This record gives sequence, C-alpha cells and structure tokens, in this order.
Amino acid sequence: MNEMQWNTIKHIERQWSAEFAKVDHLIDRNQEKVLSAFASAKVTDSDLSGSTGYGLGDRGREQLEKVYALVFGAEEAIVRPSIASGTHALAIAYFGLLRPGDTLIYATGEPYDTLQTVIGVDQEEKSGQGTLRDFGVHFHSVALKQDETIDVPSILATIDASTKVVAFQRSPGYAWRRALSVSEIGIAIAKIKHTYPDVYVVVDNCYGEFTDVVEPCDVGADLVVGSLIKNPGGGIAPTGGYLVGTKNAIELASYRLTAPGIGSEMGSYEQYRLFFQGLFLAPHVVGQALKGNIFAAAAFTSVGMDCAPQPSDAHDDIVLRIRLGSAIQVVQFCQAIQQSSPIDAHVLPEPWLMPGYQDEVIMAAGTFIQGASIELSADGPMRPPYVAYMQGGLTFSHVKLAVMHALEKLGLLEQGLTLKW
Ligand SMILES: *Cc1c(COP(=O)(O)O)cnc(C)c1O
Repeated sequence: MNEMQWNTIKHIERQWSAEFAKVDHLIDRNQEKVLSAFASAKVTDSDLSGSTGYGLGDRGREQLEKVYALVFGAEEAIVRPSIASGTHALAIAYFGLLRPGDTLIYATGEPYDTLQTVIGVDQEEKSGQGTLRDFGVHFHSVALKQDETIDVPSILATIDASTKVVAFQRSPGYAWRRALSVSEIGIAIAKIKHTYPDVYVVVDNCYGEFTDVVEPCDVGADLVVGSLIKNPGGGIAPTGGYLVGTKNAIELASYRLTAPGIGSEMGSYEQYRLFFQGLFLAPHVVGQALKGNIFAAAAFTSVGMDCAPQPSDAHDDIVLRIRLGSAIQVVQFCQAIQQSSPIDAHVLPEPWLMPGYQDEVIMAAGTFIQGASIELSADGPMRPPYVAYMQGGLTFSHVKLAVMHALEKLGLLEQGLTLKW
C-alpha cells in the first residue's frame, strides 16, 4: 500500500461516514441483545465445557440452545456441531415438518442451489437419495414481483389444503436481487397467518443474522435456520448449524435431528466455549463485514461498477454483488481477494466445474475455518453478467486492504483517482 492508497481509504471513509456510523449503532444494539441473553440464561464457566457419549443432561448444550432462543426471539433452539452445514440444518427443518402429500411453497422464488437438490425441484423420477419429492412432498415456488418485493396475493393464491410449509429465503444466493428485510418478511407472514394460521413459516436466515435489530422469529416465523460458519458463529464457531423457533416446530425438527423418541435430549460435544464466544462476538464481526461491504461498494461504484447493495442501500445480508462485466475480471477479482487472505495467500484459485453447477465457478477462500463465509471470501460463476460475490470479513481493516488490492489488480486504481476521487 502506498500513500495514495491510504488516502483513498480515508477519502471513502469520510465520504460514507454516516453509513459506517449506522453500522456501529447496529453493533451496539445487537451486542446488548446478546449480552442480556447470556445474563438471563445465567451462563457460567462450567457451561463452556462439554460432555461425551449420549450427552444426556449436557448442561453446556442446553445453555447454548437457551441463549440462542433468547437472542433470536424464539421459544426453543437446536444448536449443534453435528449439523454439517446450513443445507443440512434446512433439510432437518423440512423433513421434520413435512409429511407425504404435503406441499412446500417457497415464497421468495427458486430456493438456494443446494436446497433445490434436497427438495428435488427439477427431479423427474425417484432420485434414490431420499429427497422431499421421493417422499411424496409437493413443491411450488412463487417468484418475487418485478420490483423485487414479496408477491403476497400470489402466495395466498398458491396455498391450498395440502400446504404445510411456506418458506422465505432472506439472502438471494447466486441471484441478482436484493436481500429481503425482516420487516417485509414479517408483513407477508402476518397476511399468510391471518388466512392460514396452521401453516408453518420457515425462514432461511443464512447471511442475515445481526444485519438488523430484529430476527425472523420476532415477526412471527415458526422456524428460522442458519449456519454457524456464517454470521452467528462470529468466525469462531468451528462448525455447525442452528434452528430456532416455536416449541412445537423445534420438537418436530428434533426428531429428524436425531430420531423419533429421542429428539434434542441427546447429543454431546467436548467443548462449547467456541460456540458461546462466537455468538458473543457475532454482532461485532457481522458489523465488520457490513462496513467492508459498504466500503467495497463505494470503491467499486466510483470506478463505474454496478454493485448491489449500493453503499447507502439497506444491508439485509453480508453479501456484496459486483457486476464486473467479463470473465477475466471475475477471475482477477477473486484471485486478488485470495492474495489478500491470511491463509493460502500464495495459492491462485482458478475456475472449475463444481458438482451441481451449470457453469464453471471460481472461489477465493483463504479462511481459518474451511468454507467459512463470515470470513472474507469471494466467488462467482463464469457466465454473463459476470458477477463476483464478496462476503464476510472478520475485521474491517482486512476488507479495506483486500478491496484496494483488487482495484489495483484490476487496473482500476488510477482510473478511480483521475475520474472520481
Ligand atoms: C449459505 C446458504 C445456505 C446453506 O449453505 P451451506 O453451504 O450448506 O451452509 C442456504 N441458503 C442460503 C441463502 C445461503 O446463503
């Protein structure tokens, strides 16, 4: 970094200081929420250590789940290292709630890629893997409206007597749309519950946690699901997933987590400290990622790139979508992020054909925890409109350095200085 680059950073920070201040306030509010949850649950030193075997009466596990329930405005929670990923946690939710002949409706368009396989969206015959469709569960999705808002009348028109679950996905995944806010999801939930009080509402909360002062259970969701190597793990939780919700929905999910009759009474792990500590740090870490997001959006829009969200837009997830315009720029961008990573900075990622994807994908993830996207990471499919997705960042400073390096690598730094700064 040279003086000109340091000055560029200062300039962007001054220009968007009001946005950064908003994030600081959000961090404070969510830190208060998390801190008071720890106090209400009376978390104590011995809760941080774990158990073995069946884990019957595992106090650390029970306390961790109590704290999660309090933070997320839920009656109960399941928080487990044995949940392999966000997809696994969502599969537990859907298999727990749905029975043969029931219908699942996605209210926010097509589900995230991996969930399409779990559901069996495009599947013609039996998959042999035991997807929801293999078990006779029907599926519909209702697209967002042209203006990217939730199409409540169409959702209500799609619900019928077989509809058991209506699902909302807060973050768009590889779709070029904005993330949805908790309050607009809440308005849709109220309308659905008004006419269909018995339908379960599930929210895929991945990347959304702590980007707002409310969470989906606060606005009436029955079951809210996410990954511990994203926002709520605070970059510290080594693995796992969570489900929070009503007593009834959590109980049904618990029989899929373990087995009917056992539910959430069993499950051991040798150490819970990292999960508690990660949750405690999560509001701060999410705030760092959000600031990094705003900074990157400011830097890239000033050199003519289209970004979503823009610096002053609402940030309802921690993902920044940058429309770069060519395959080579997506590659250069992701390589620059990798070169600015604490782990494997010397490794050059290349596009490759990943299982389950139509086009080649490039991924930069120089992370301490494998695949943790609360840590700074970037990826993008090799197809028009050539969008790079950048998310996470344990420290705001790290994101600033990585963005400056990416601008340099893309040959945009000089241009930025002469054009706009
Ligand atoms: C990350 C993510 C998931 C789950 O992905 P995993 O890699 O299985 O943890 C699901 N939905 C959305 C919107 C996501 O961003």
